[in-house]
Amino acid sequence: MAEIIAIANQKGGVGKTTTAVNLSASLAVAEKKTLLVDMDPQGNACSGVGVVTEELEVTVYDTLHDPLLVKEGIVKTQLDFLNVLPSTTDLIGAELELVAADRREYRLSNVINQVAADYDYIIIDCPPSLGLLTINSLTAAGSVIVPLQCEYYAMEGLSQLMKTIGLVQQGLNTRLSLRGIVLTMFDRRNNLSHQVSEEVREHFQEKVFKSVIPRNVRLSEAPSHGAPVLLYDVSSRGATAYLDLAQEVIKTRES
Ligand code: ADP
Ligand code: MG
Repeated sequence: MAEIIAIANQKGGVGKTTTAVNLSASLAVAEKKTLLVDMDPQGNACSGVGVVTEELEVTVYDTLHDPLLVKEGIVKTQLDFLNVLPSTTDLIGAELELVAADRREYRLSNVINQVAADYDYIIIDCPPSLGLLTINSLTAAGSVIVPLQCEYYAMEGLSQLMKTIGLVQQGLNTRLSLRGIVLTMFDRRNNLSHQVSEEVREHFQEKVFKSVIPRNVRLSEAPSHGAPVLLYDVSSRGATAYLDLAQEVIKTRES
């Protein structure tokens, strides 16, 4: 059975998609069968692994209405062990359509249940909100990884996210846990990065991953080449950091 991890933070631009793409790719090169689920209508996770969505018949949007379509929707990538369930801007509509739907929070869970036995890891890239798409992701997942940008106000919004995770745990998904916080865009020459890192580690202790993602231009360039960073520049610090994070995720797997 797959370990299912949602990558969530309602703040935009903190490194969710970069983490979802590069953690997935790094798990895949470790020969773990991995499915990347794009739950952001922007579709950056699927373009980040080189999947062009224009000609797709079935996307994650369709599967939320009919989970049995999921196998049709899953697409292969350049990496043997990595598949993706893509999204398109259609998904914006789902947020509204689901409001009145039956068991609306469990739609993605029903989709993922169809394929969980086929993978070692399922990584869900959440949109920058705490709306129904993120709630669906948290309900489908076993745990959450929270990317935290080493910047001013990094901790701001974190309490709201923890509250949301708590609410999901109480009602929709009692097994949900915090897998860890991953510090992103760390700049070792910047005092602020060190301060944020210390503050977060003090507060969240062992819940912060040892692997830290540096600010690295290769990570921001790779998506325009439709490739995870390890296919674009495997010797970059960004690639090394995500390979380390994947090893940490593999070593700390509980089930
Ligand atoms: P989110 O999904 O949380 O909105 P993204 O992963 O899309 O955030 O990252 C926001 C922007 O920052 C993107 O342009 C991305 O390429 C860039 N970026 C993310 N992580 C890094 C990093 N470690 N170093 C440099 N640029 C990064
Ligand atoms: Mg994103």
